[in-house]
Amino acid sequence: MSKKSKFSFVDCSEAATCCDKAQYEEANLFEKAKLMLHLFFCKTCRKFSNRNSKLTHLMKESKLETCPEEKKKQWKEQIKKEFAEERT
Ligand SMILES: [Zn+2]
Repeated sequence: MSKKSKFSFVDCSEAATCCDKAQYEEANLFEKAKLMLHLFFCKTCRKFSNRNSKLTHLMKESKLETCPEEKKKQWKEQIKKEFAEERT
């Protein structure tokens, strides 16, 4: 079942993208604001965001932030995949 979120400006997939960007501090203020608003209404994305933060935290803990871009991309993809599975 995939229904588009009615909440506002952002649908869930866009929120996920913003979320990823925010984690890597690539999101601008507007994107962050949109994300926050979406998270406020959308439980699914909130959950995703929480886990995303945890992962980011783990990455920092293990100093993986100095890892190559490729590795980061891998992480991002993995997170996205998990998120997609959860929503099906
Ligand atoms: Zn959502």
